[in-house]
Amino acid sequence: MAKVKNMIEKDPETHKKNLHPRACLTLVEALHDGLLVLVENCIFFANSAGARLVADNSTEAVIGLNLSTLLHPESQDAFAQMCQDLNAGEKEYVRLELRFLRLDTEMVFVEATCGTTSFDHKSSIYLLMRDISRRKIQEKRIHYQANYDQLTTLPNRSLFYERLKHEIVRASRQHSHIALMFIDLDRFKWVNDTMGHPAGDELLRQVAVRLKGCLRQSDTIARMGGDEFTAILPDMTRGPHAERVASQILDQLSMVFMLEGQEAFISGSIGITLFPDDANTVDDLMKNADSAMYHAKKEGRNGYRFFTPNMQTEALERMQLEKDLHCAMSRNELIIHFQPIVNLSSNRIVGAESFLRWHHATRGWVAPDLFIPVAEETGLIGQITEWAIRLACEQAQGWRELDGFADFFISVNLSCTRCRELSTDDKIPDILRQTGLPPTALVLEITENILMEDEHRAMAMLHHLRKLGVNLWLDDFGTGYSSLSILKRLPVSGIKIDRTFIPDVNHDRETEVLVEAIMSLAKSLERMVIGEGVESQSQVDFLRQRGCDMVQGYFYGRPMGFEEFKSFLYHWRATPTDV
Ligand code: C2E
Ligand code: CA
Ligand code: CA
Repeated sequence: MAKVKNMIEKDPETHKKNLHPRACLTLVEALHDGLLVLVENCIFFANSAGARLVADNSTEAVIGLNLSTLLHPESQDAFAQMCQDLNAGEKEYVRLELRFLRLDTEMVFVEATCGTTSFDHKSSIYLLMRDISRRKIQEKRIHYQANYDQLTTLPNRSLFYERLKHEIVRASRQHSHIALMFIDLDRFKWVNDTMGHPAGDELLRQVAVRLKGCLRQSDTIARMGGDEFTAILPDMTRGPHAERVASQILDQLSMVFMLEGQEAFISGSIGITLFPDDANTVDDLMKNADSAMYHAKKEGRNGYRFFTPNMQTEALERMQLEKDLHCAMSRNELIIHFQPIVNLSSNRIVGAESFLRWHHATRGWVAPDLFIPVAEETGLIGQITEWAIRLACEQAQGWRELDGFADFFISVNLSCTRCRELSTDDKIPDILRQTGLPPTALVLEITENILMEDEHRAMAMLHHLRKLGVNLWLDDFGTGYSSLSILKRLPVSGIKIDRTFIPDVNHDRETEVLVEAIMSLAKSLERMVIGEGVESQSQVDFLRQRGCDMVQGYFYGRPMGFEEFKSFLYHWRATPTDV
């Protein structure tokens, strides 16, 4: 070792000369790293590792090629900058990452150390390259997993937020408009519950493909989770374009889906908000699109709604209502009103329907149509319904002790969401046992909506209730869309003709024909018919002539409080009106 050192130090020039070029080449060939020498960007020299890295080819094959023709577009700028820096003599060497376009593999990334040298008396650039593809692919995979939804391959929530932020900055700079859409599938839960999770997954995948097909390349469609999707449409020409896209999406969603060989039908509800017209922050835009979507859903699904400022006020009001409803029970603000039900052949009061009433401390009376949906969404409906059934059963049992009302029954409206739980708990048998009311004296009024989400489970629950001996009536009959077909299968003993038909009997022949058809259908299926919302003698006569069994409505009495109802019963018993 010392000997060699001595030799070099003594005569460095001779040492250099003695280094045989062939020996150097052998060394360079043996390198694991790739080496390229470029003259005017063309490959002048390459070792085997270098030729393999950039083109998966022999050194002979790559000599003379312009390196930029082998580079991936995303590396072109970095490469050009590197050449410029080195040629200008600004830097001694540059380290950078380059990506090569190789036909045989998906991607090749190298880490290159580049500098200038002279080769064969020509000024040239050398690149010493190490393969880092494995690490880059790993990084890409991690990035993909963090930013894309595995099931649909759409951007996920986090990438969506990032893109939205980016688009807002861009649109502010360019004074352009963005539309943000919230797309929620209707009936997805139904598909998942009845056809199974693999079918549900398949549906989401197919939905993703259809949604993508409705958008431009520059738009973003993301899956936020579950059956919620969002879309960012930059460079909007205000409303009309968003409107077109929304209708196209709805059309696409309403076409049949084939899931594991079976047909499935769904629809979607879309909320749209515009930047900067409606809001200019990510949070506010998200809130707006969400409330607009909520409105679209509330208005019967399969539709779209643009955000309007009063939706914000409504959302705030709803939140306040929600808070107040939580306290309403403990403050005794909820009460029940009763409306008499009259048997048309005996002309006697045979029962009553109970209605929830909320007397708010400052707002006064709040309509059930307003607060019951809130109670359903917050889950309070369970507690409220249980309380209402218990109270109604107690009162009814009391009235049954009055002379002439031994068979008196009480009917209670059952909300869809509450219905579903009733198959699993024993609340109703408990209430009946504790109040002493026979099961046959309790009627539960359901609507066909309960079959919408999960028909199997709803049917099982209804049969369970029937087994307890409780009566079921189908409320609001004639307003739904599948009424006639489902009536045959539902274990209900009576149907209530929707009150919206009644004002038109004796006036409108079409309504009369419809009511007559409903009645004859109910009769042939051996179901009782109850007319509600009856306000005049002529309406009573019409219904009686067609064989209606029972009626209720303002003509006999409005829904009233407990004391008032009790005196109403006394009065009726003393002077039954002969109608
Ligand atoms: P519904 O079950 O169809 O109730 C009938 C509605 O018609 C009641 O309105 C009743 O007050 C009203 N009504 C009764 N007779 C007449 C009449 O002769 N003419 C007219 N125009 N209307 C009449 P209300 O009390 O506002 O209830 C609205 C809806 O809220 C009910 O429709 C029902 O779906 C729901 N609801 C009421 N109470 C309850 C409850 O305790 N639980 C649940 N889940 N829903 C309830
Ligand atoms: Ca009802
Ligand atoms: Ca009704």
